[in-house]
This record gives sequence, structure tokens and C-alpha cells, in this order.
Amino acid sequence: PTDLNALCDEYLRLAYHGLRAKDKSFNAQFSVDTDPSLGLVTVVPQDIGRVLLNLFTNAFYAVRERQKSQPASSSYQPRVSVSTRCQDGQAVIWVADNGTGIPESAIQKIFQPFFTTKPTGEGTGLGLSLAYDIVTKGHNGTLMVSSEENKGTTFTISLPA
Ligand code: ADP
Ligand code: MG
Repeated sequence: PTDLNALCDEYLRLAYHGLRAKDKSFNAQFSVDTDPSLGLVTVVPQDIGRVLLNLFTNAFYAVRERQKSQPASSSYQPRVSVSTRCQDGQAVIWVADNGTGIPESAIQKIFQPFFTTKPTGEGTGLGLSLAYDIVTKGHNGTLMVSSEENKGTTFTISLPA
């Protein structure tokens, strides 16, 4: 039995501070909007923690990439958010960013092992394939993505509550 709300909050901060430790100039807004009625959900906390950490790390990376491509005068404000809801017997977690988005040509491939668009040393391409297995095979849940280029990306995790 795990407090998913606390896990989301903890890992979002961990991902943000992890990135900032490597890049001190990086700043982003982040928000946590959790549903108190979620209660305790039976999961393997280390595994769901890895899933969350990877989704958050990807999200902060995507907003940083988008920020780098903006002119200095731009009003772009990088944002990453996590929200939870208890809905129809499912614990649902949304991880949303307003980063680069994923081109249509890549979206079919992101859950495949070793697919990465990051330079060598910055990505292995294993995060999302591992996340997919943990959520679907390990927890009988679903992991979905919706994305628009230069708007952002939302991943939705659904777990039987
Ligand atoms: P890695 O992070 O090592 O590249 P992942 O499996 O975590 O591997 O992600 C695979 C690819 O999916 C990334 O290289 C990137 O192209 C794309 N991606 C994942 N999450 C996001 C996101 N939030 N915004 C934009 N692209 C993303
Ligand atoms: Mg990753």
C-alpha cells in the first residue's frame, strides 16, 4: 500500500533538483495537484518511483530543450506538472509539460527499447520501454501519451486502485 500522492511530489522534486545540479542556469515552474481521496494504492513503490522519475526527467529535459531554442526576448515559461485523480476504480496520474513535444514520426517509437533523440551520454532510450513494462506487465495498468510539437506532452498512467 503506497501513498502515490507523496511519491509523485517527492520524485518531481528529485527530478527537478537532479537536473539543476547539472545545469545551474535551468529554472522551471512545477506544480503538484493531488487528489486526497486517492488513499493507498497497492504497487511496487520502487518500480513506480522509477517510472515517475523517468517521466519527470524527460519532461524537464523537454522544457529545457524548448527553452534553449527560444529567442532571448521570448516570454516562454517552462512548466512541468503532475496531477492525480481517483476515477472509476483507477488511480490516474498525469505528467504534463509544455516542452518540445514529440513529432508524429517519433511517437510510435518512444516505447521501444533504445529509441532516443538525445545525444550520446544523455539518454539510453530505455526509460519509457521500462516504464511501459512496469506499468502494464508489472501492475496491470496502462501508460498513454499525447503530444503536440512546440506545445507539450502529457503522459497518463492508470493503475488499478
Ligand atoms: P531517453 O530519455 O533515454 O531518451 P526514454 O525512453 O525515456 O529515453 O524516451 C525516449 C524518447 O522519447 C526521448 O529521447 C524523446 O525523444 C522522447 N520523449 C520522451 N518524453 C518526452 C517528453 N516529455 N517530451 C518530448 N519528448 C519526449
Ligand atoms: Mg528518459
